Amino acid sequence: MRRKLAAGNWKMNGLSTDMGEVAALPTGLGVDVLICPPATLIDRMVRDPDTFVQVGGQDCHPNPNGAHTGDISAQMVADAGASHVILGHSERRQDHGETDALVRSKIEAAWSVSLVAVLCIGETEAQYQAGETLDVLRTQLAGSLPDGAAPGNLVIAYEPVWAIGTGLVPTMAEIESVHGFIRAELATRFGTDTADGIRLLYGGSVKPSNADEIFAVPDVDGALVGGASLKAADFGAIMMALDAAAKAISV
Ligand code: PEP
Repeated sequence: MRRKLAAGNWKMNGLSTDMGEVAALPTGLGVDVLICPPATLIDRMVRDPDTFVQVGGQDCHPNPNGAHTGDISAQMVADAGASHVILGHSERRQDHGETDALVRSKIEAAWSVSLVAVLCIGETEAQYQAGETLDVLRTQLAGSLPDGAAPGNLVIAYEPVWAIGTGLVPTMAEIESVHGFIRAELATRFGTDTADGIRLLYGGSVKPSNADEIFAVPDVDGALVGGASLKAADFGAIMMALDAAAKAISV
C-alpha cells in the first residue's frame, strides 16, 4: 500500500523566524510529511531537533557544479540534508522557461545523488478549456521522466496551473480521472508494479476546507500544498485530513 504524503512547497517564503511553524505541526500521524523550504532554510530545518519532517529542495541544476551563478546543484541540495527535490514546477516552467528536456536532466541529476524527485505536471487554463489536459500530461510525462522511475525515487504531483494559488480546484471526478490516467501512463512505460507504487499527489489550492474530499478521491496519495503549507494551523489540519483518509482505507 502506498503511504500517504503531505508535502509543503514554501516557494520564496520563509525566514529563520518561521521555523516555529514546522515545530508546531502535529506529530504521531500515520502519514509522511515533507516540507520544501527555500534553499536558505534546508540545513536549518534538517538540523532542527524540534522537527520530524522530511526536507526537500525546490529546484536543482542538472550539472553537479560549475559557473552557474545563483543556481544550486542536486549534490548541494542533498549535501544540505534534503531527501527530496521538487522539479518541473509550473512556476519554474513559466518564470524560467524550463522545458521537459531540462526537467528530465534535473531528475537525472537528483537521482544521481539519491534525491527523490517530486515531478510536477499540469495543464494551463487555456489547455484545460481546450480539452487538452491529458495530451499535455502525456507529453510532460514522456518528455520529463527518465528511464528508471521507481516508487523509491519518484513522486508525481498533478498540479493544474489554473488551480495554483487561485482558490479554484477541478471537480473530484476530474482529479480521479487524471490521476487514473497518470497511473495508466506509468504502467505502460514502467510496468504495473512500479506504477502501483509511485505516489501521485494532487496540488492546487488545497486547503483544510477541501482536503477531506480531495483525499477521498481514489489514486490521490496526498497533496503538494503551497500557500496553506506556510502556517502550522492550516498545514496541520491538512495533514490530519490525510491521516484520516489513510485510516479510512486501512480499515
Ligand atoms: C503549488 O504551487 O505547488 C501549490 C499547490 O500552490 P497552492 O497550494 O498555493 O495553490
